[in-house]
Amino acid sequence: MQKTCEICGATFECGRNKKTCSKKCSDELARRKHLAYYHEHKAECDARNKKWREDNKERYREYQHNYNVARWARDKANKVPKPKKVITWSDIYNKADRLTKLSMLSLALTEHNLGTVNYGYLSFIYGTDEYKRLEDKVFKAKEELVVDTST
Ligand SMILES: [Zn+2]
Repeated sequence: MQKTCEICGATFECGRNKKTCSKKCSDELARRKHLAYYHEHKAECDARNKKWREDNKERYREYQHNYNVARWARDKANKVPKPKKVITWSDIYNKADRLTKLSMLSLALTEHNLGTVNYGYLSFIYGTDEYKRLEDKVFKAKEELVVDTST
């Protein structure tokens, strides 16, 4: 005997009491029945659930905890990472004014053991080829280092 599935409408060869074509449709039918029952007996169900929560505080807390953990994990998994905005030392340096550049360069030379060149001397050679050579040294040393401003 052939029947039509109550959920998906597929025709299927059936046994006695089957109303659905597959496990999936059978589960869906059960879900809908439960939902319909809930809507028809809402006050009753809510009261029963409330009582259960009160009688099973520990289990309910555990349930809530698990639910929150699962939701947190799901949200974390779904989160699309923002591209990190990265500012390099060179970016800052290139936008800085002359005095700031001199300080930054002087500090960076010391920091990267590229020689101690004092501020006054840097100021004196500012804009010359020698100054540019020192800049290049620092740019190279700073290349790998970035400042992460995304957090
Ligand atoms: Zn079906």
